[in-house]
Amino acid sequence: MYSFTLGNHLYPYTIMQEHTVEKHQFQAEVRQVLDIVINSLYTDKDIFLRELVSNAADSLEKLRHIQLSAPEVFDAALPLEISIRSDEAAGTLTIQDHGIGLTRTELVENLGTIAHSGSKAFAQAMRNARESGADGAEALQLIGQFGVGFYSAFMVASKVELYTHSWKSEGEHLLWTSEGQGSYEILPSEGQRRGAKIVLTLKDECRDFAKEDKVRELLRRYSSFVPFPILLNGERVNTVQAIWTRSKNEITPEEYSEFYKFHADAFDEPLFTLHFNVDAPLAINALLFTPENNPERFGFMRMDPGVSLYCKRVLIDPHPKGLLPEWLRFLKGVVDSADLPLNISRESMQDSSLVKKISDVVTGRFLKFLADQAEKEPEKYAKFWKQFAQFIKEGVVSDHAQHARLGKLLRYESSLTKAGETIGLADYVGRMKDGQKELFYLYGASRAAIEAGPYVESFRAAGLEVLYLYEAADEFVMNHLREFDGKALKSGDSADLKLDDVSATASGDALPKERMDALCAWAKESLGARVRNVETSKRLVDSPALALNADSYMTPAMRRMMRTLREREGGEDGPEDVVQANFELNAKHPLVARIDALREKRPELAKQVLEQLFDVSLMSAGMLDSPQDMLKRMTRLLGELG
Ligand code: ADP
Repeated sequence: MYSFTLGNHLYPYTIMQEHTVEKHQFQAEVRQVLDIVINSLYTDKDIFLRELVSNAADSLEKLRHIQLSAPEVFDAALPLEISIRSDEAAGTLTIQDHGIGLTRTELVENLGTIAHSGSKAFAQAMRNARESGADGAEALQLIGQFGVGFYSAFMVASKVELYTHSWKSEGEHLLWTSEGQGSYEILPSEGQRRGAKIVLTLKDECRDFAKEDKVRELLRRYSSFVPFPILLNGERVNTVQAIWTRSKNEITPEEYSEFYKFHADAFDEPLFTLHFNVDAPLAINALLFTPENNPERFGFMRMDPGVSLYCKRVLIDPHPKGLLPEWLRFLKGVVDSADLPLNISRESMQDSSLVKKISDVVTGRFLKFLADQAEKEPEKYAKFWKQFAQFIKEGVVSDHAQHARLGKLLRYESSLTKAGETIGLADYVGRMKDGQKELFYLYGASRAAIEAGPYVESFRAAGLEVLYLYEAADEFVMNHLREFDGKALKSGDSADLKLDDVSATASGDALPKERMDALCAWAKESLGARVRNVETSKRLVDSPALALNADSYMTPAMRRMMRTLREREGGEDGPEDVVQANFELNAKHPLVARIDALREKRPELAKQVLEQLFDVSLMSAGMLDSPQDMLKRMTRLLGELG
C-alpha cells in the first residue's frame, strides 16, 4: 500500500486515487441506446464479441496507418494482434488490442457520447423499423449501422472496464469503467500498454461466455476474417486471409456469407455475390455483395459507401467516397487494385483518373451482372428490386453514362401484367406491336387509379401495352432516361402523342362532324384561358372526355413538386401555376350529346356541366390544383335536379 503524509496525517494512496476519479453521466442518447441494448435485444447476445473484436481490429488498422506517417508511437514494439482471455472461475472475459487506444478526451467523446450518427436517429430508425414490421435481424443490422457496437458489451456484462493508453506519447494510463446505468468513471491506472484492454464481468446468466470452448466457437463463427491475428488464451484461432484474392472455385458459399457478415457488419445473408478479377485496362480484384435489406428504407439515415478500397491487400479506405458512384452506396465488399499508389490520399481519390477507371469497370461489371441475374433468377431479382429500386432510379437520374445498363434493370407493372407482377423494359420491347416506335407509360397513385382514368382505354383499344408508374419519382426517371433500346419513352397523357384512331371501336352513334366542331369551338370559348385546344377525340372509347398535358416540360408531377418547394419557401406565383391543357371530347358519348343539346336550350347550365367535366378530366390527369370551385359547382348542379 502506497501512502503519503501531509501535516501529521498519513494518507493511504487509494484515497488519493478516489480524489482523481472523474464521474460522468452518459449523454441522453447513449442512455437510450443502452436501454434498448440491455432491455430489448434479448436475441443473439453472441454478437457482443464480434462487435468488440471488430472495434479492436479497426483500432489496429488505424494504428497501422498512423505508423506509416508518424515516427513516434507509444510502445512501438508491440505486435498488431488481438488477445482474448477467458477466466471461467472469475466469470470474466478480456479482449485486448494494441491499437491506437484512447486519450481521456477520446474516452469521453467516443464512449460517453454518440458523436457521428446520433442515436436519436438510431432510436427513431428502430421505431420505424418496428412499425414497419422489421424482424430481429433487421433491427440488429441497424445497431451495426449506427455504431452502438461497444455498448453491446452491456448485453452480457454487469460491469465493463476499459484499460487504455493512447498511441500518443502524452496520453495517460487510464481506466474507464461503467455498469451501464447512466454513468461511467475515468480514473488513473498505471502500467497500461498501448491500446485497449476491455474486461467484462459477466452477468450470472451469461457466464457461459467465460468458457474457452464457447468463445472459440464464437470467434470462428464471427471473426475468422479479421485481418489481424487473434489469440485465445495464448493460442492462435484465425488465419489471416484476403478472401478476394483467392480463386473463386475454392471459396464456399458459407465463406462468402461469413466474409460478407464480417465485412459489412451485417446480420443478413448476401442476396447477390459477385467476385471477379480483371487485368485490363488495369488490375482489379473485386468482391461485391448486395445485402438482403435496405436500411435506408426506414428513413433518417444515408448509408456510407460500403465497398472498401485496398491496394495489394492493404486497406486504403474502408468507406471511400469517390470510388463508386453515390447511388451504389448500398453495395458492400472490397475492391483491390494493384495499380493504385499505396499513398493515394482520401482527398486526391476523387480527382484520380485511375480511380475513375476502376469505378467505370466495377460499375459496368456489376450492372451487367445484375441484368444477367435478373434474367436467370427473376424471383431473386424481384426481391432485390423491392428493396433497392430507389438506388437504380437514383442512378438513372444522376448517371447518364450508365443509362443503357440501368434501363434494363427497371421493373414496372403494366396494362398487360397482373397486379403486383412486373416486367422490364426489354420485355415490353419484345412484345411491341409491329410498327410501334415508342414505349408508353402512365403515372397514377395506384393500378386502380390509372385504370379508372380515361387514358388507358385508347391504348387498350389499339392493342398497345402501357407501363404503370406509381411514384412521382418514376416520371423523372422516364424523363431522364428518354429512350430505351433506341425507342422513345412517352407519357400516355402527353398532348403530342400520335395514336391510332380508336374512336371507331366505341359503340353508339357519333355526333356529326359539324356539330362536334361547333361544340368544340363553343367549349374553347367557354373555358377561356384554361385550355389551349379543344377537339374531337380519336382516342376515347368509354369515357366522355379527357385532358392532356400540353406542356411537355412541365409534367403534372413536376408541377406538384415545384409547388411544394415554393410553398415551403413561401415564394411568389411561378410558371407551375399555369395549367396548359388540351381537352378532348368523345363524339359518341351520351353526355357529350346532352351538353350539345343543352347548349341551345339552357346555355348557362350547359356551361357549368362543361366546366365540371373539364375539372373532372383535369383531376384524372393530376392537373387540378384546388377542387374548391369544382365542389361548389357540383352543389349548384345538384340543385338543378328535379
Ligand atoms: P463504432 O465502432 O461503430 O464507431 P462503437 O460504439 O463500437 O461504434 O465505438 C465507439 C467509438 O469508441 C469508436 O468509434 C472508437 O473511436 C472507440 N473505440 C471503441 N473500441 C475501441 C478500441 N478497442 N480502441 C480504440 N478505440 C475504440
